[in-house]
Amino acid sequence: MNEYLKICHDRLLPQNLALPHHTMHSGRPDGVQEAIIVFRKLWVNGSKLRVRFMGGTSAQQAKAEEQAKWWIPHANLTFEFNNAPDAEIRIAFDSSDGAWSYIGTDCQGIPRDQPTMNLGFLDGGTAGHEFGHAIGLAHEHQNPDGGIVWNEEVVIRDLSGPPNNWTEDQIRHNVLEKYAADQIRGTKFDPDSIMLYFFPGTWVKSGIGTKQNDVLSDLDKAFIASEKAYPRTPVQAVELGINAAPTSASIGKPGEEDLFKFTVTSAGRHVIQTGGQTDVVMKLFGPNSQTSLLAEDDDGGVGLNARIAADLIPGQYFAQIRHFNKARGTGSYSIKVNR
Ligand SMILES: [Zn+2]
Repeated sequence: MNEYLKICHDRLLPQNLALPHHTMHSGRPDGVQEAIIVFRKLWVNGSKLRVRFMGGTSAQQAKAEEQAKWWIPHANLTFEFNNAPDAEIRIAFDSSDGAWSYIGTDCQGIPRDQPTMNLGFLDGGTAGHEFGHAIGLAHEHQNPDGGIVWNEEVVIRDLSGPPNNWTEDQIRHNVLEKYAADQIRGTKFDPDSIMLYFFPGTWVKSGIGTKQNDVLSDLDKAFIASEKAYPRTPVQAVELGINAAPTSASIGKPGEEDLFKFTVTSAGRHVIQTGGQTDVVMKLFGPNSQTSLLAEDDDGGVGLNARIAADLIPGQYFAQIRHFNKARGTGSYSIKVNR
């Protein structure tokens, strides 16, 4: 078996599969690639993510834990390997199912009795790479700003065979298609990123493949610690009153995250919505949890505003706000909760 065929594939939620997939070809001649992040799928900065092993030997589990913790000195996140039944990250070790992980908060869409990650092999830095997905990182080769021009027929031929046996649709989704520009944020070219696919020169028009990276690169560390991901600055949740006047806020820097909290004392339908001209994405977590994702929305409100309507039981809830993309960038907005 060729080493390069042991590649990780993205797992997508069914609702994401139904979305139109925007494909782009930037055709940059220098073939640069960048570490990228699916910003909509980031956890709340400062989250504690619990991990449950669903099988595996003690040696496999130890390796997964060791490599997961590569991220921790750099990301403002905590992993707790406590095998909690409702752990956010649940890891299987099915050797017939390859290596994959859902991305970031998508893990919350998976039934609790099913894994969110599979470590069918543990070569090199595989677990470190998959934990990169679990905290919101994507594959650089699908960066719309990257300039990879594929030899599509070679890629399709190689991945159609064992051990992947992917359909052409799977190959297009996992390798050949790029993310839409407004779904990701990138850093500078990083040929050393652990999130870079290893692929041979025959797969690309330039004839120059990539090498396998088994440790976090300096840019991986800097990026995950940056304001675009999980900076080590405390996120102070601003309290919102139910049926109170809208609270004004602003996003001053690209990638900045605002966090709001409110307390539901009597169960019922609640509407959380933003106002203003800034295009924002909202995620609702709770009750009494910053990791339990209930809903997310971007343009469900008036204009570019976000709106979530949900039946909520008593407890504390958190609304995370990020702006939608670089282009329509930063600015002021307001947020309110009504029952
Ligand atoms: Zn991967």
